[in-house]
Amino acid sequence: MVNSSSKQKTGIYIHYPFCLSKCIHCDFYSLPLGRDNKSIEKKYIYALLDEIRLYRSILSVREPSTIYLGGGSPNLLSIRDLHSILDCICEVTGVARPVEFSIEINPASDIGDKLEGYKALGVNRISIGVQSFSNKMLKFLRRPHSVEDSLETYKMLRDWGFENINMDLIFGFPMQTLDEFKKDLETVVGLGPEHISVYNLIYERDTPLYRMRQTGKVEALDEDVEWQMWVYMHKFLEDSGYTHYEVSNFAIDGKESVHNLNYWNRKEYFGFGPSAHSFSNGIRWWNVRDLGAYIGKVEEKEFPMERKEVIEKKDQIEEIFMLSMRVKDGVRKESIEKIAAWGNELFVEVVRGLEKYTPDYLSLSKDEIVVNYKGWFILDEILVNVFHILDAFWREIYDSQENS
Ligand code: SF4
Repeated sequence: MVNSSSKQKTGIYIHYPFCLSKCIHCDFYSLPLGRDNKSIEKKYIYALLDEIRLYRSILSVREPSTIYLGGGSPNLLSIRDLHSILDCICEVTGVARPVEFSIEINPASDIGDKLEGYKALGVNRISIGVQSFSNKMLKFLRRPHSVEDSLETYKMLRDWGFENINMDLIFGFPMQTLDEFKKDLETVVGLGPEHISVYNLIYERDTPLYRMRQTGKVEALDEDVEWQMWVYMHKFLEDSGYTHYEVSNFAIDGKESVHNLNYWNRKEYFGFGPSAHSFSNGIRWWNVRDLGAYIGKVEEKEFPMERKEVIEKKDQIEEIFMLSMRVKDGVRKESIEKIAAWGNELFVEVVRGLEKYTPDYLSLSKDEIVVNYKGWFILDEILVNVFHILDAFWREIYDSQENS
């Protein structure tokens, strides 16, 4: 095996679709893994390896610079199965080690048994699904772990010498107070992971949490309190040495997630497993969100896609605004000009339309639009404005084409 630098770099995402139990807010594709459905996990692994091999001709000319195992709870994977997945990626790409090899884990006391295996396989970034340092909040989400499990897991990772650790947190629980959230932030900073992701609790459709709100069993947190939490979080984490480099992500210098930055920068990636998404050569596709259908398709030697879309010029530009406004570097005019000859005109229109948000929520110049942390809190509203401006612009272009 060689590490080649002449090959096209790409990201690889593996979706592991099993968890110990289902959390009430979760809309990821995951199934509870009991002892009685261990055999379905085996079938999933075979199908996953076969799916990766279906991409052999495409992947053989690529070098995976990042591999990310997400889910689900990929820490339930045995080291032997993880080894098989990595071997398979190496076999089809001819590349031995990615620059960044991440795995998501859920805190559990038995995770220690796997850490030696992770080290041996070259896993160099671990993301822990802590979610909260309050057992009350963890119980509310029906997480199977406790705060003590999180602390023990973190300690074990450090003892094994892992130097790039992310902790996932959630804020905005019903009835959560600002002081409770401050304690979470103080605890995480006291531990000192290299990377912290903080997500707002979302009431996703078709989740038990959504139904609880619909039936009045829970009430969403007041938006003013969420705003206070947001402002406090930004200032506190930045003052503690973490750069707020994306809406939900903070890192110490040099420890930003390379894999996720690829998504936001619209770089190529291939996703494997049920519900996994991919993007390459201006085409996006995603796999079926059903394990049985996924296994069935792969057994028939078919790509297990649900849908594939060629991203037209208009959609490419919308994506650039949508993704680049999430990151601290913002939207560069050149990136729009590369796609369309009239990129400059369009950019000027968007800048004009967003003037009402300066200076509080974003900064504007003739070459870039940079949304700040206050703007990120109302990003959906800002994007609605951007899309209206883009729609009006497209209409003008089509009208002038029709009339010419
Ligand atoms: S552990 Fe993660 S993927 Fe699994 S159910 Fe909970 S939130 Fe969803």
